[in-house]
Amino acid sequence: MIYVIGIGPGKLDHMTKEAIDCLRNSQVIIGYKTYINLIKDLIKDKEIIENGMRQEIDRCNMALEISSKGKSVALISGGDSGVYGMAGLIYELNSKRDKKERIKVVQGVTSCISAASSLGAPLMNDFCQISLSDLMTPWKQIEKRLELASQADFVICLYNPKSKGRPEHLSYAFKIMEKYKNSNTPVGIVKNAGRDNEEVYVMDFGRMNFDLCDMATMVIIGNKETYIDNGKIITPRGYKI
Ligand code: SAH
Repeated sequence: MIYVIGIGPGKLDHMTKEAIDCLRNSQVIIGYKTYINLIKDLIKDKEIIENGMRQEIDRCNMALEISSKGKSVALISGGDSGVYGMAGLIYELNSKRDKKERIKVVQGVTSCISAASSLGAPLMNDFCQISLSDLMTPWKQIEKRLELASQADFVICLYNPKSKGRPEHLSYAFKIMEKYKNSNTPVGIVKNAGRDNEEVYVMDFGRMNFDLCDMATMVIIGNKETYIDNGKIITPRGYKI
């Protein structure tokens, strides 16, 4: 049995009870070391296999092997395992096997939802999530999605805004969105959402500070109705008040 567990953004308070129960029911825990570290108090008595970034396929193959020998395994993702997490890959690999393993996806709070709660209410109307990582999606396709999502006036949540290998992607993305987003459109930046070292910044699109962002940052860009009041970002739902 494989539980693909989204542990939420970081704090134990933000994990679901089901995620905690499934961790307890697992004999082996597999995950990227940063995430294993976040849940270390819950898994003291478990066999733990941790490895580095970009070793997702190895991690999933290990989970399938261990499960096929009759052990229960927890495969850990940050946030939700179905949002740029491990859920898709483990199903894809399992679909290529003759003997299928049982897989259960255990939902978690994805980082844009966690960040939104710290920013106020930015996601009250239609929104979309776009990852700026071009490791597996061609940059041209990402550009097209940024262009059309801003033209359609979605609130936009940017995952993977920046990394050492891609320091300029976020500013390129803003250049594309600039055609449709006014310079006073609210932007929320939340670094380490839901963790003890969380940082929250609210600013206008035209005064975006790219230096505040890194790999552990969520960037939320409002729509044409979004405004800032008392330090919070609010996207009206459309109520007549
Ligand atoms: N499965 C994860 C997303 C993995 S992609 C989820 O559901 O949240 C990795 C990206 O998610 C990071 O580059 C960052 O943009 C975002 N992210 C993950 N954890 C975060 C956190 N605690 N605070 C802010 N952003 C976070």
